[in-house]
Amino acid sequence: MPMATATEHDDPAPDVHRIPVDIPFPLPPANATYLKGAVPTLVDTGAKTDTSWESFERQARRRGIEVARIEQVLVTHVHLDHAGNAARIHEASGAEVMVHEAEADILENWSSLTEGRNRSYEEGLRRAGLPERLRLALSQRGTDVDVMLDDCPVARRLKDGDKIEAGDRTLTVLHTPGHTPGSVIYWDEEDQDLSLAMTGDTILERITPNALQVRREEDGALATYLKTLERLKSMPIGTMIPGHGLPVTGLDGIIERALRLYEERRGRLVGFLKDADGPVTVWRLVTREWPDVDAGKAFLATSEVLGHVGILAKEGVIEITEPEEREDDEEAALLRLAAPEA
Ligand SMILES: [Zn+2]
Repeated sequence: MPMATATEHDDPAPDVHRIPVDIPFPLPPANATYLKGAVPTLVDTGAKTDTSWESFERQARRRGIEVARIEQVLVTHVHLDHAGNAARIHEASGAEVMVHEAEADILENWSSLTEGRNRSYEEGLRRAGLPERLRLALSQRGTDVDVMLDDCPVARRLKDGDKIEAGDRTLTVLHTPGHTPGSVIYWDEEDQDLSLAMTGDTILERITPNALQVRREEDGALATYLKTLERLKSMPIGTMIPGHGLPVTGLDGIIERALRLYEERRGRLVGFLKDADGPVTVWRLVTREWPDVDAGKAFLATSEVLGHVGILAKEGVIEITEPEEREDDEEAALLRLAAPEA
């Protein structure tokens, strides 16, 4: 008899099926969560690859879930490992797709936005001072993954506080920007037993989610994410199905750990700037923090440092000179600690 994998038995309630969908990234599978009941609902979908779809379908079939009868798809955020198959499920079932209003246009027009998006990523990485070799590798990677999400019509654009009937539950939409501008948590606050929530990539257990901030227009994402964590701290959320990994409890502990790691990293980055014998690029800080950084990690590592740099600049701890403010030919912004006030 084939051995069942441990993950198949980790449904938090009889009406809640967590389906860990294989994805083409070095991350734990992405959770698609099926809510059984009056309004068959799926929260998140996996990526649009053959492997991801087969992994979803096989597990759904084994649990007796009929994809054609899904009535709603709730998206936690428009990343391809979460929303990639929304269109495919919509086509197979006619399900209404819902997403926060900040990301609805992105989901509907993903393919036509690709070019502009990649151009602004390229600009952001150039400004951060990434070597050309890495910029090329990252831009290739971007092109490779862009096809893993299909444009999908959005039936309902969600706002903070909206209520959705899903399965036999009523979910409250919590707008939790940071990881992405339209990230949401779907929370069953009437659930006396579990106080169940599907948290997307806003709350992950072992991985500190990256507040994506590489393009100029993403400036402030880390500050926004920290505000989201402060807001969530006071909420009586119980069992969480995160975007990746097993269900978890202990929201406050996860938040405290994330805030502690943030403070520690901030301290190290300021220390690197103190040690430096002149202005440095963001990339220089990245390689101090992660000496073994490679193409696989460069994007998220740069985003992380840019998040800190944005906050430190706003607080006046550091000064940034943009390339256009300088005489040299460098294309990157340069950072240094602000002079202490006399
Ligand atoms: Zn994500």
